Amino acid sequence: MDSKLRTETLCIQAGYTPGNGEPRQLPIIQSTTFQYATSEDMGKLFDLEADGYFYSRLANPTCDAVAAKICALEGGSAAMLTGSGQAANFMAVFNIAGCGDHIIASSAIYGGSFNLFSVTMKKMGLETTFVDPDCTEAELNAAFRPNTKAVFGETIANPALTVLDIEKFARAAHAHGVPLIVDNTFATPVNCRPFQWGADIVTHSTTKYMDGHGATLGGVIVDSGKFDWTKHAGKFPGLCTPDDSYHGVTYTERFGTGGAFITKCTAQLMRDFGCVQSPQNAFILNLGLESLPFRMKQHCANAQAVAEYLQGHEKVKWVKYCGLKDDKYYDLAQKYLPNGSCGVISFGLYGGRQAAETFMKHLKLGSIETHVADSRTCCLHPASSTHRQMTDAELDAAGVGADLIRLSCGLENARDLIEDIGQALENV
Ligand SMILES: *Cc1c(COP(=O)(O)O)cnc(C)c1O
Repeated sequence: MDSKLRTETLCIQAGYTPGNGEPRQLPIIQSTTFQYATSEDMGKLFDLEADGYFYSRLANPTCDAVAAKICALEGGSAAMLTGSGQAANFMAVFNIAGCGDHIIASSAIYGGSFNLFSVTMKKMGLETTFVDPDCTEAELNAAFRPNTKAVFGETIANPALTVLDIEKFARAAHAHGVPLIVDNTFATPVNCRPFQWGADIVTHSTTKYMDGHGATLGGVIVDSGKFDWTKHAGKFPGLCTPDDSYHGVTYTERFGTGGAFITKCTAQLMRDFGCVQSPQNAFILNLGLESLPFRMKQHCANAQAVAEYLQGHEKVKWVKYCGLKDDKYYDLAQKYLPNGSCGVISFGLYGGRQAAETFMKHLKLGSIETHVADSRTCCLHPASSTHRQMTDAELDAAGVGADLIRLSCGLENARDLIEDIGQALENV
């Protein structure tokens, strides 16, 4: 697809171009397997010598079309869908780092990713150093070890709502010969394209805004194609030396800088872990992507209006949203997210924990959900739900105070949302 096309056009047109007489809408290729005339034909696929489909655990045309659309939106060289955002982050890291290796991650990341790195991947022999996303460059550089293989952060952290200084993290990663992986879930490529700022790999939980309707779980990994693995071949033997499980193919030689990462991740990790997205789910995701730019505009406008309203309300103690001029991350957001950030805000009431519970109970439009980032406004009080096993002191240390309410602004009319929030606050 023409790389000069703009986001709205790519959301509609990229990834799938039907031929004469073929379906205009992306077909759901609901088939586990694909047939060949001879074993020799199929053998070439198994040696990665020919392109083609043979089993939907490795690749499926519907999923590939949707991956290609997201790849175009991010401005990458290759992409693959996964069954969830968790699978995307696990595989993006595990593709280049394993037992005996080390990664550096921002401490302000999604709880599921924090757990993945600090507990589960640790059991696999991979160590993670967590750094404050606002640390100095010297502090960041000091976290590297000889066995560090990647740096990880989120453009806008869920739920901390910090904005990552992508250039600072990319500079440090590149100075140490490793890639920067950015989870771009909350910003989406509509509001930020991390590759433009030096990120090398981008991941998403497509479960959030990309689907946007709370209908289907999914993830995606996109490669920028800009990181030269062969320059640091000693660090990345999996990409730069022969793979015995594919007749000795060396991914960087056969697939180049732009193709090596995703080909290896598909051919090895998807083959062995099998956390695929189904073609049916990819089809639903594709429908969501078509309207993504328009929905993001509305999510951001609603969040801005609600954040400003809350900031002016006497019962509200604090509001966090990087679109507010006095927010700690306003300047970074102006740089990396000039057209808007996301629809998620957080705030606290003077009455603390008790007030939060009362407030949420009285909301009529905003429902209580662990989910965020879809068309319906929803809210969560972590201290009494997802984080309820923690003491108030532990909650503070985790940056999720006992009073914190996370509010994900949907696509409703902002005046209705504000009126609903207003009446709920009256009950506090
Ligand atoms: C939700 C989320 C994930 C996990 O995605 P799932 O699709 O739920 O597996 C990862 N990163 C971020 C930033 C998220 O918000």
